[in-house]
Amino acid sequence: MNIVYLNGQFIPEEEAKISVFDRGFLFGDSVYEVIPYYRGVGFRLEEHIERLGHSLRAVRIKNECNWHAIMDQLVEQNGGGNLSVYLQVTRGSAGKRSHAYDNSLEPTVFACCSPIKDIWQAGADEITPLRAIVTEDLRWHRCDIKSTCLLPNILVLQQAKDEGVEEALFSRDDKLTEGSACNLFLVKRGVLFTPKRSSEILGGITRELILELADEHAIQYQEIDIDYERMLAADEVWVSSSTRGIIPVVEVDGHPIGDGNKGPVWQKMFELFTEFQRKLMTGQ
Ligand code: PLP
Repeated sequence: MNIVYLNGQFIPEEEAKISVFDRGFLFGDSVYEVIPYYRGVGFRLEEHIERLGHSLRAVRIKNECNWHAIMDQLVEQNGGGNLSVYLQVTRGSAGKRSHAYDNSLEPTVFACCSPIKDIWQAGADEITPLRAIVTEDLRWHRCDIKSTCLLPNILVLQQAKDEGVEEALFSRDDKLTEGSACNLFLVKRGVLFTPKRSSEILGGITRELILELADEHAIQYQEIDIDYERMLAADEVWVSSSTRGIIPVVEVDGHPIGDGNKGPVWQKMFELFTEFQRKLMTGQ
């Protein structure tokens, strides 16, 4: 039986109910986070909580919960181990449908978890590379807010699937921004490139860690605009996210990237990333 958290209570998922007038349901008036827990320990928990704070502030929803305690307890109640926690905060319900809202609304807080693979134990050979398409970025200009308004992300991912590939990359004004639920990196002559942080992309927790690791291990990187031609001419393309880690993209719009295989810089970063995870989780 899965235990979920809803507005102060830990309850079986079948018992969790919210109002049909909840603004998260009616308007997508809500934000969320997805946090991996390995062996019952939150990975970069503080960074996720900080980003949740940024999203809540940006959309002016109250931020009054002890997120740390809610997530730790939820994971514990679901048996610990390797779990991904989904946390959503909506503006709440006023018992009617109206675009305008009252500041006194109590937010609806919901969290649940689901099993995830332990990336650091899986190893590089178990990572299946992706093929991607590039699609126009039709999202709003506040992609730094982790909002639940994910229709564009859902539709492009489905379009990718319909075209027989696994991922969709967004392009706005001939600049690649990010993937449907991931950040974008490319490698050219050993140097790492990624779009700079702005309101056009989500400030990924994994993206930040990759740049930290690059700094520590003398891998050169630049945060720059990436256009379509630059991407196709890259030696390697990767995407990153908390639940999937760092995954190589070996084909874009039917064109092979580099030699069409997982690249050596990806291999190196994957090892650094999984070693970082291993140390954190085992304390060694
Ligand atoms: N960009 C988008 C649009 C995302 O939805 C996500 C994760 O869900 C990311 C980037 C990667 O962020 P993180 O590394 O924090 O998971």
